[in-house]
Amino acid sequence: MKQLKEFKESIHSCSKCGLCQSVCPVYKITGNDCTVSRGLFIMLKGLIKGELKMSKKLNRYLDLCLKCGACSRFCPSGIDVVDIIVAAKAEYFKTSLKQKFLSFIQKQIIFGLFVDFLNLFSRKCKSKHFEKKVLYFGGCSSKIKGDRPVVKILNEMGVEVINPSFSCCGISLYTRGDLKGFNQNIEKFIKTVKKYNITDIVTTCASCEKSLKDYMKWTDSKESRDFLKKIKVKNLYEYIKENKLKLTLKKPVEVTFHKPCNIDNYENIKWFLNNIENLTYIEMQDYDKCCGLNGISKFSEYKIMTKIFNKKRNNILNTGVKYVLTSCLGCEVSLKLFSRNSYGVDDLTNFIASRI
Ligand code: SF4
Ligand code: SF4
Repeated sequence: MKQLKEFKESIHSCSKCGLCQSVCPVYKITGNDCTVSRGLFIMLKGLIKGELKMSKKLNRYLDLCLKCGACSRFCPSGIDVVDIIVAAKAEYFKTSLKQKFLSFIQKQIIFGLFVDFLNLFSRKCKSKHFEKKVLYFGGCSSKIKGDRPVVKILNEMGVEVINPSFSCCGISLYTRGDLKGFNQNIEKFIKTVKKYNITDIVTTCASCEKSLKDYMKWTDSKESRDFLKKIKVKNLYEYIKENKLKLTLKKPVEVTFHKPCNIDNYENIKWFLNNIENLTYIEMQDYDKCCGLNGISKFSEYKIMTKIFNKKRNNILNTGVKYVLTSCLGCEVSLKLFSRNSYGVDDLTNFIASRI
């Protein structure tokens, strides 16, 4: 588990060029340097040197960061901004009783009876048997929506889907800075995977994918790191592209797609959408710009997040399509909240599986 001070060199490598300002969705709305990596790094430098104390105000700026990573992709110094922000959140977490209490509640939900309760009612779909097998990490969304769409699509490709009762990927603990809690979550995940002799893990949720791929970076245990090296976490659409699966929808339909900040495999999704018979894919302007949802700060910073979303909404409307698809439960919630019934919002897998 890397501490904030271990990022000292990365923070110092910021040349203050300001390129991050041109891509940061929060900065574009606030115009405040404290809400983008450049300004945040100046404050974090002060914190590491002991010239500044961790405070609610600094935590508020850290919370405003959507952890979308857009600034990292443009940063000429190659700074991994999200890791630094999470490490800084962990510093605040150590000092805040309120955060510890909220995390305690979250863990009861993630590890506790609530998940067992959801598992009782989650609609698991029976997979057909094939030689090729994958473990499906459905995350929280599959407990609510069921795994039928993924099973249906993968079975068509000749892949058996094993769906163990995984708990949450733990991303909310990570973004809150509760890295100890996040580590407990990693161990729980490893324990479940070890029960099966399968190394391919497929997910459809962008947050789960990002979280699972980051387990290696944040685990404290060498044994866990060695185990994680052996498994391959993939997004469903990498599978589809690899197998060159051709699908035909029952009726013609036009869609657009919102790319969640934390997926890197848009090219696979685009390939998939462009290769489905009876489906026309229209790429919206700024398809990859953040939807504005960032868990708790969505509600505490409502005005800022609303402005970010209104831009997204206009881009969707300009395509003239009836459906916007995405592959992250958080984005789906955000897109629905602000759609004002102007278009339908659906999970990409769900939408396709229900029309083949
Ligand atoms: S783009 Fe990178 S180097 Fe430039 S100011 Fe932002 S964080 Fe610093
Ligand atoms: S991660 Fe996203 S929201 Fe945070 S500073 Fe970078 S661009 Fe802005």
